[in-house]
Amino acid sequence: MATLRFAALDKVLDRQPQWKTPPSSKISDFYGVNVFDLEKMKEYLSGNILESVLASIEKGARIDRFAADHVAAAMKAWAMTKGVTHYSHWFQPLTGRTAEKHDSFMQPSGNGAMERFGGGQLVQQEPDASSFPNGGIRNTFEARGYTAWDPSSPAFIIGKTLCIPTIFVSYTGEALDYKTPLMKASAAVEKASMDIMKYFDKSVSKVVTTLGWEQEYFLVDSALFKARPDLVMTGRTLFGHSSSKGQQLDDHYFGSIPERAMAFMQDFETECHKLGVPVTTRHNEVAPNQFEVAPMFEEVNRAVDHNQLVMDLLEKVGNKHDFHVLLHEKPFQGMNGSGKHNNWSLATDTGINLLSPGVNPKTNLRFLTFFINTIGALHRHDDLMRATIASAGNDHRLGANEAPPAIISTFIGTQLSAILDEIEAKVHKGNLSPDEKTDLKLRIGKIPDIMLDNTDRNRTSPFAFTGNKFEFRAVGSAANCASAMITMNTIMADQLTWFKKEVDLLIKKGQKKDDAIFHVLKQVIVDSKRIRFEGDGYSDSWAKEAEKRGLKNVKTTPDALDFMLSKESRRIFSEFDVFGEKELEARYEIAQEFYRMKIQIESRCFQDMILNQILPVAIEQQRRTLDVVIGLKEVYGASYKKFADPHLKIVEEISERVRSLQDKVEQMRQERKKANILAHSADQAKAYCKNVASLFDPIRYEVDKLELIVDNELWPVPKYREMLFTK
Ligand code: ADP
Ligand code: MG
Repeated sequence: MATLRFAALDKVLDRQPQWKTPPSSKISDFYGVNVFDLEKMKEYLSGNILESVLASIEKGARIDRFAADHVAAAMKAWAMTKGVTHYSHWFQPLTGRTAEKHDSFMQPSGNGAMERFGGGQLVQQEPDASSFPNGGIRNTFEARGYTAWDPSSPAFIIGKTLCIPTIFVSYTGEALDYKTPLMKASAAVEKASMDIMKYFDKSVSKVVTTLGWEQEYFLVDSALFKARPDLVMTGRTLFGHSSSKGQQLDDHYFGSIPERAMAFMQDFETECHKLGVPVTTRHNEVAPNQFEVAPMFEEVNRAVDHNQLVMDLLEKVGNKHDFHVLLHEKPFQGMNGSGKHNNWSLATDTGINLLSPGVNPKTNLRFLTFFINTIGALHRHDDLMRATIASAGNDHRLGANEAPPAIISTFIGTQLSAILDEIEAKVHKGNLSPDEKTDLKLRIGKIPDIMLDNTDRNRTSPFAFTGNKFEFRAVGSAANCASAMITMNTIMADQLTWFKKEVDLLIKKGQKKDDAIFHVLKQVIVDSKRIRFEGDGYSDSWAKEAEKRGLKNVKTTPDALDFMLSKESRRIFSEFDVFGEKELEARYEIAQEFYRMKIQIESRCFQDMILNQILPVAIEQQRRTLDVVIGLKEVYGASYKKFADPHLKIVEEISERVRSLQDKVEQMRQERKKANILAHSADQAKAYCKNVASLFDPIRYEVDKLELIVDNELWPVPKYREMLFTK
């Protein structure tokens, strides 16, 4: 019965690392060869066309049709030197991954054909994309969504296709993707930050948000992967008894990278570098066969594109090395889950990191302003930050006792906490006396020194300050980072806009600028105190403490998503022109529906595997054991019972577990039916969560017990020890 499992294990025994030789040992020799970057633009575009493209990249200026024609011709000429035959608009629909539709450069002409790629084709396309999620915005009969070129993210080549990063919107202008709202949210926070910068430094002409993601993933051998229908269908193991050794010895974490994995990583990194994705870091993660890759940080729009590309590349290159890359947040129970840390900051065009403490009191007041306002933003909109990371997969991390908890809080370290406490204590109503001000500024002036030996690290906080950036750790490994970044940038825009208004009000009332800033900062510190937590975020005592503080602990996706439709959510997203009401509601619908579908697929897959694979081997085991009992009876006659007792115990235990599984699987089926007829996506999702997903653990318990009883030779799917420890 277990033929597929053993065939897969046989294959794994023969695997060897597949080393590939990179194009050069100097990465700089081939870095970006597959990207139509500035260097290539300079080579292929004339001066005035280049200028208009650069103006569009830097200031968002429109590119006219004439220039677009030239850019398209240049892209085509460059791409054809690299053997490219097709082009594709590359976009990020709400499925969470990327989409592409390839069109050929070739056009029939006269009796022959020619290669053509015009400005029109570059700038806009109308993919027949009626089946992408749209939450009711686009009726299928209209079926008209269009993609539009985003010149700020460079075109690149994958295989023999020129990929053009684009936004994806409905015919009536609503966003159907992640890129559109991300660009709007980034513009909002840029403007709000620029307004604040006027207090400190008038030479700055642009502020951008930076994102450095860290991507965790698991590798499993592709033969073993294919032998587990649950991995194939759902990306995670629905059952599997834990192996005797797990991650308790910590012998994988930061250990030497296994050879096969290393060969894969080198190959993968080469592909990243050719595409100008600046990956720099690789290491083993906590769980066996779990790894991480991280790049240098970049401007957020580009960083998001690069992460999407990386997720595709991981899978593509993985296949070449007979690995399947698991991006799911929790592929293996009892092992650490995978996240995608989003390191976030703000930077000026003059090269200043606004979350980096400066060198004198003045620049440190600037640092404190952005730092404290980030905490304020998180406090004001913690609900939205929770909603933004909600997904069926991430529920296994956030709801459980691992990874950052579902309670949103921030860790800033003892040193900075002390400074905030001091501001709170020393700033009082009215203007500060010159002595008081000197005192405060002296104190603030010491920030760089204390930061130097600030080795405070807290891995249990969902949102930790790590010296010169905030690290949002609760993002799921399979998510599009844009989701978290759209929210982050919008709430920061809201907070900074409010801050500016308050400060200006005090200035108008006659306060000095610095005094006014100190006053409003103090108010933010006082108001947002409850969101700051320095202790162990995984502990039960924190859950209790958080409840006392009035912080929410929403453990499941359908409930967390409800925050998207709150009054505040509607207000900020529309105020900063990120989402209109209709768009927000559509996104909410899509997210609820996605959750429901994920749980539905898991539930069906579970059912099929139990009925088709698990029960048959359990019953076969029973039959074999009963054969022994019959044999014992034949040999020993009436006294057989003395010997058959242990065997009968096995037979009985199997019967009980089989019955329990049958009952629960049937119950699960009935609950699905009941949920499916509910009228709204949200109600369906909630019913699936409460009545279907809640059965997974009890069902799994029975299956895992059976795994221990049934003969290893019969067990139909690869076991945990095989998937996690066979190299
Ligand atoms: P770790 O958090 O694992 O200790 P690092 O502090 O070196 O590692 O950085 C982790 C990630 O943070 C990297 O992807 C890096 O590019 C990113 N990062 C560093 N500085 C910034 C910044 N100013 N803005 C955004 N991301 C940053
Ligand atoms: Mg980190």
